[in-house]
Amino acid sequence: MKLKFYGAAGEVTGSNHILEGDGVSIMIDCGFFQGVKVCDDKNNDKFPYNPAAIDAVFVTHAHLDHVGRIPKLMNEGFKGKIYSTPPTREIAKLMLEDTLRVIAREAKVDGHEPLYREDAVEKAFVHWEAIPYDKEIVFKDDLRVRFRDAGHILGSAMIEMTHNGKKLIFSGDLGNSPSPLMPDTALLSDVDFLVMEAVYGDRVHENLLERANRLKEVIEETVARGGVLMIPAFSIERTQDLLFELNEMVEGKKIPEIPVFVDSPLAIKVTKVFEESKAYFNKEIQDTIRGGDDIFKFPKLRFTERSQDSIAIKDVPNPKIIIAGSGMSNGGRIMHHERNYLSDPKSTLLFVGYQAVGTMGRALQEGMKSVRIFDEDVLVRAKIVTIQGYSAHKDMNALLEFVTAVGDSVKKIFVVHAEMGAGLFFAQRVRDYLGIDTRVPKSGDVVEIDF
Ligand SMILES: [Zn+2]
Repeated sequence: MKLKFYGAAGEVTGSNHILEGDGVSIMIDCGFFQGVKVCDDKNNDKFPYNPAAIDAVFVTHAHLDHVGRIPKLMNEGFKGKIYSTPPTREIAKLMLEDTLRVIAREAKVDGHEPLYREDAVEKAFVHWEAIPYDKEIVFKDDLRVRFRDAGHILGSAMIEMTHNGKKLIFSGDLGNSPSPLMPDTALLSDVDFLVMEAVYGDRVHENLLERANRLKEVIEETVARGGVLMIPAFSIERTQDLLFELNEMVEGKKIPEIPVFVDSPLAIKVTKVFEESKAYFNKEIQDTIRGGDDIFKFPKLRFTERSQDSIAIKDVPNPKIIIAGSGMSNGGRIMHHERNYLSDPKSTLLFVGYQAVGTMGRALQEGMKSVRIFDEDVLVRAKIVTIQGYSAHKDMNALLEFVTAVGDSVKKIFVVHAEMGAGLFFAQRVRDYLGIDTRVPKSGDVVEIDF
């Protein structure tokens, strides 16, 4: 069989891999390249293969860098089925519908046709089947595929394929277990080939307790200064993790009750999917919910879906907390709040997620003193804080543990979803510590495997 790497190879985004041979051609993920713009120009490039020749697409999870180009695949002739877990299907629908607005706006600014329109998104979901974890799908020639829990975000999965008595895993993104809400990453065994992410292949996160303490400190400091705490957050998982932790802190009287706004229509919709998918939470959370606690509801929390409610947030006296998208400050309502409060030395901008190279979030995180928002120069006087522990990804040590646990059977590892430096660093570590043949493919690489 051949493994073909077309995206997230030597970089973090644009996830797109193909397994081909023995009369089948199976794609894993078809995501956006993301960077300066929500929808990077590279997404406009024609696929370097014939989408009509692909039999099926397996989707690891609903993040846009894993699903963003699926409607484009429909437009360019893909006719097969799309498979994912049920929550991934639901959240991907919300994400892609939301993306339509963004790509239409960006296309207008740049003066070209949008990457795709509503009809392509609708078509994708006609072909999109939801399959629960661990249920096998059988292809011709005894190729079996199933979803295993990756513990990354709601519904996230590793793709496990067996063929000729061998096992191949596409990890998708691997969860930062133990996660507040998600189950731990499923344990694997007898794996022969591993295509795995290493976004944080060269970094170590703060642990859960440290991150909760840090969040508490940042809130206390902002309250003491009478400022605004702005948290750019991804709509999936990060927002819900934050709500869960704020819920604990407020109800446990560990922080003062101050207004908390979730100012993102998408995050509000995704939070509803979370509320309807309780069976996908870890056991502890399921028990908590059964015990009667609504984990996404506490005093002074407000969901501001309508834009007039969002605008009215600035009339609410400080201190207050605003959670809004986009997570990398490259669009979304957070930009309005950043324009209003970045120049205020009493306020704080808190990063709890990955900031891609080229985004305003990355520039601010690296200490930029002035930024341009909506044709306005804004001086940065607010405190800039980063808490790494909120990552939904395994860090270097956890990734290494993941490989160690999979064990002696692994013959080859392909490191994807990592900036080149992090990928090479992690690959070297795996070779040094575990002696496994590990490489970092580049985009366009084709590798023959005995699978
Ligand atoms: Zn992800």
